[in-house]
Amino acid sequence: MNTIYFDNNATTPVALEVLDEMLPHLKKLYGNPSSMHTFGGQLHKKVEEARGKVAQLIGAEPEEIIFTSCGTESDNTAIMSAVESLPNKKHIITTRVEHPAVLNFCKHLTRKGFRVTFLPVNNLGQLNIDELLKVIDKDIALVSIMYSNNETGVIFPIADIAEILKERRILFHTDAVQAVGKIPIDTKELPVDMLSLSGHKLHAPKGVGALYVRKGTRFYPFIIGGHQERGRRAGTENVASIIGLGKACELAGKNLTEEITYLKGLRDKLETALLKSCPDVRVNGDINNRLPNTTNLSFEYVEGEAVLLRINEYGICASSGSACTSGSLEPSHVLRAMGVPFTAIHGSIRFSLSRYNTEAEIDRVIEIMPEIIKELRMLSPFGRDRLDQSIKCPYRLDLP
Ligand code: PLP
Repeated sequence: MNTIYFDNNATTPVALEVLDEMLPHLKKLYGNPSSMHTFGGQLHKKVEEARGKVAQLIGAEPEEIIFTSCGTESDNTAIMSAVESLPNKKHIITTRVEHPAVLNFCKHLTRKGFRVTFLPVNNLGQLNIDELLKVIDKDIALVSIMYSNNETGVIFPIADIAEILKERRILFHTDAVQAVGKIPIDTKELPVDMLSLSGHKLHAPKGVGALYVRKGTRFYPFIIGGHQERGRRAGTENVASIIGLGKACELAGKNLTEEITYLKGLRDKLETALLKSCPDVRVNGDINNRLPNTTNLSFEYVEGEAVLLRINEYGICASSGSACTSGSLEPSHVLRAMGVPFTAIHGSIRFSLSRYNTEAEIDRVIEIMPEIIKELRMLSPFGRDRLDQSIKCPYRLDLP
């Protein structure tokens, strides 16, 4: 059975072109880029080439890119750097819907005497900039707001926020792990101070990421040791993966516009068909402002985990916002922050696509989902009632 992979916000397959560039550096070219000899030294050049490619994808200068081990490290580093640089400032602003890489690090800082404001979102997952303006004070070390949400794909108004914070000389970090490589980002136009990205979300391997730090931003390293990354991130470079990340960024930049159109077409086809064929389904998040590859759907009267297990029998991979399957015991904090009803959170499924998905794969999901949903609803007393359409569901998304 072939795998039909619709879980690309969790991780993506490594592109073959990326693997091809990496392999020699896992086999024969194993030197240390810091070595004096030619064998190691040639890898220094390769690492710098990769840095240039990552920089180019986001409109940065190569010196503004620091390689890290993952998106989580980039996020932790940005926050820690801010609080170390501004030791007298004790207020951090973030949102309720961040990835745990930001959310839990901020919670950790509350135990160290920091005050953290977690901004709310509305029922479409949008952020109201007035909420940010209300809490700005003189004590802010950092504002950290994600570029786009991993669960719903909703994109925040990062450019507007960045302008507001720049005017007030407040440090601003954005977690762009889900956005880089999926939508255009140009740090020349976008006055953020720091920006995180992660290799495995854009067809590079796991275990490599980067942090963009705008020239002139005061920076403190999170991992301290040797002189790698110009003293900004110690540890012998993960050369093969860094080269892979460079190649992945080059590929993403080359076909970004075409890919956006392609993914949006597939995603919209899937979404429209499921909304039509399954009763009592809603889309979670702002459908007019989200990543082109993501749809988050709530199927009332079913457990997301049960749906995942059933579609898994057909080789289809997706993820759910309900407990356990998402690796935590809590239902999605993102959907809860949006005020999505509990039953809808438990029946939520995220499909996240990549350039390697095909229309035939979409058609397969469209073919099997309605039967699976119907079958699972027959197992629940509420679902059975709904099947005879006698009760009006308050969350029903009526199609035009
Ligand atoms: N930030 C966001 C928005 C993410 O979606 C993820 C991973 O899912 C991360 C950070 C963490 O990235 P990594 O898995 O590379 O540590």
